[in-house]
Order: sequence, then structure tokens, then C-alpha cells
Amino acid sequence: MFQKKTIKDIDLTGKKVFVRVDFNVPLKNGIVADDTRIKAALPTIQYLLDQNAAVILASHLGRPGGEFKKEFSLRPVAEYLDQMIDTRVIFVEDCVGEKAEIAARDLKNGEILLLENTRFHSEEKANETLMGKKLAGLAEVFVNDAFGTAHRAHASNVGIAKFLPAVAGLLLEKEINYLGNTIINPGKPFIAILGGAKVSGKIGVINNLAGKVDYVLVGGGMANTFFAAQGYSMGDSLVEVESLETARKILKEIGEKLLLPVDVVISNEFSETARHKIIPVGDIPEGWRIMDLGPETLKKFERIISNSKTIVWNGPMGVFEFPAFAKGTFSLAKIVAESPAVTIIGGGDSAAAVKESGLSDKINHVSTGGGASLKMLEGTVLPGLEALDNI
Ligand code: AMP
Repeated sequence: MFQKKTIKDIDLTGKKVFVRVDFNVPLKNGIVADDTRIKAALPTIQYLLDQNAAVILASHLGRPGGEFKKEFSLRPVAEYLDQMIDTRVIFVEDCVGEKAEIAARDLKNGEILLLENTRFHSEEKANETLMGKKLAGLAEVFVNDAFGTAHRAHASNVGIAKFLPAVAGLLLEKEINYLGNTIINPGKPFIAILGGAKVSGKIGVINNLAGKVDYVLVGGGMANTFFAAQGYSMGDSLVEVESLETARKILKEIGEKLLLPVDVVISNEFSETARHKIIPVGDIPEGWRIMDLGPETLKKFERIISNSKTIVWNGPMGVFEFPAFAKGTFSLAKIVAESPAVTIIGGGDSAAAVKESGLSDKINHVSTGGGASLKMLEGTVLPGLEALDNI
């Protein structure tokens, strides 16, 4: 059960509400290139408007390094949001200080104000008490709906919570319910599908899920390290030498649950136009490298997936940025989407692949946070969640 108060647990009628959203969206030539995170924040924003609250939105965007940089301004996001909803969106050029204070003070009920990038102040990432206090001074209630930053303790998501009643937004609640609660009590069989470049990035997830899952399906570069640990030579494949010992330990402890690829696509160089061929798993010739899963592996994974009740997937199955090596990842996205199981996709690359295939609607939950979803799967308590008021 969700242990924190949400916006539904307190009276927000006519209140000035500071909402930490995750508007860290990609911009291309100053225009929002992917609005997934903005859309994901709308249910909370709409709920607050329905309560006739005055809605003050704050977010970071990119890594400006604690100073103003035009390319990291949230102004294009304000313009985008303004087009998206009926309520006018006011933008103010700072998140603290006189300009922000006046804009927040003058904001009326039922209106929206978006503050400028919180990371234009170094005090944000340092979580300086005064910064949290200044942000809190703009409003009467704090709502955290920024799941994507919940694994960080910054002034606008943790520091501020000390000074105001602090509750979760609807997106944060949904993310935690899927990534936390479903995994605590999953429908069985429960499988995890893990991919991406490195074993080291997923060790915490494997350790946390090992006792709960029926199978872990492994693909992507991280599978190479397991193959190397089994004694195969990997040619020029990406292998994490420093994780070989860990890989051996995992194979020893939960080897029977770990399903590795049985065939792979190899190429003679790391490029989009490289020569490539499918081979069964074994020694990889010198000068060649593993770039993707093969069709037999997909069949094997499909059999397991179609019998599962809960599926969590994080990380691509190959170098999916190159179309020639994207088949494993995109075919897997389709197999997962078509499965009747409860399906949960961690943010980042796997979420992007599902989205690109137009399959997001067929997935129960596609997380808006890459790093934060990994932390959840590792069983870590997120500071952004911890800071909120208990029920
Ligand atoms: P991660 O951030 O650890 O989830 O890794 C994502 C990256 O892993 C993507 O950029 C993929 O291109 C890369 N990747 C997946 N499979 C392989 C592979 N077989 N060899 C090299 N890189 C890979």
C-alpha cells in the first residue's frame, strides 16, 4: 500500500500549491521534442485546477551546472504547456528571488505559473536549506510529482518538504504503485528482463529481485559478460572485465533462473553499416562483436513471456540505436506488449523503444524515470518519496 499522503488526502481548495514536476524533456532547436513527461504531469495539474488551486510548477531541465544557460530554459516548455491545456500558463524567469516571489504572490486561483529551471542555482543540487526555504515561501503546500528526480535529494524535491505540508502527486503515486508495490507482491510467474550495456548497472536489481522472480531474461551487452564468465571468448564484444567475478557469482547462485541468449547477431565493426550475421552462442571470432539477440533467443524468450503474469523490463537487447541491430529490442517490445501479463517498463532506452514502436498503450506502466525506476527495482527508498508526509 502507498504509505504517503497524496493530493487526494488533503484539502487543496483555493490553496497556493508548489508542484515539483519532471519537465526534463528533450528539446530540439528550442522546441519540445518529446512531451511524454509533460503529458504524464497533466492529471495532477488538472486535479489541482479542479480544486481551484493556484498552481506553481517547478522543474529542472538538463545539466546547466548551477547558472543560467539559455539552452536549458524552461520557456519553451511553458509555451508548449500553454498550447496543451485551456488554462493560460504564465512563465517567470527565475525560481527564487523577487521576480518569482511577485509572480507567485500575484498568481490567482485556477491559474498556472511555471518557474524557470531550478538548476540555474547551484543550491538546488546541493540541497541547501535556504533554497528549500525560499521555494517553500512561494506556496502553502508542496506536491512532488517528479518521479524522474525522486532518487535525488535536491532543494526542490526534498529540501522544500521540511517547510510545508508535503504530499505526492498522482504520477508519483502511480509510479511507486507499479514499480514498488507490484513487485513486492507480483502475480506469478514473475519475470524480469534485463539488458543494456553493463552488468554493473543492473547488479542491484538482480540482487533485489533474485528471491522474487521465477526467471531473469538477460540480453544486451551485459549478457556478454556472463558468456565471458562461462569461459567463451568474446572477440571484440563489450565485456566488463571488472564484473566477471560478480557474473560468476550470480551464475553460481541463481544460474538456473538466468536465461541467456542462445543465438546472437555479430558484426565486424561497431557501425550502422557493418557486415553482420547470426550465429549460435559460442566463441566469437576475433574482430567480431555481439550486437543483438538472434531469432532463436526471441522464440525462447517469447515462450517464457507468454506464460508469465508479471513482467518487468529494463534495458535494450542490443545496440538498438542502429536499425540493423534493433530487431531484438523492438521484437521484444512487441512480445511484451502483446502479453496478457501485468507489464512494467523501466524508463530510459526500453521505454523509448516501446514508444517508438507505438506500443506504449499496450503496456500497463511505462515509467517516466530511468535512474529512479532502476533504484526502485533495486529496492532503494527514494529520498523524494521519503521526504513526504506519512498517511
Ligand atoms: P544501459 O544504459 O546500461 O541500459 O545501456 C544502454 C546501451 O547499451 C545502449 O546505448 C545500447 O546501445 C547498449 N548496448 C546494448 N547491447 C549492446 C551490445 N551487445 N554491445 C554494446 N552495447 C550494447
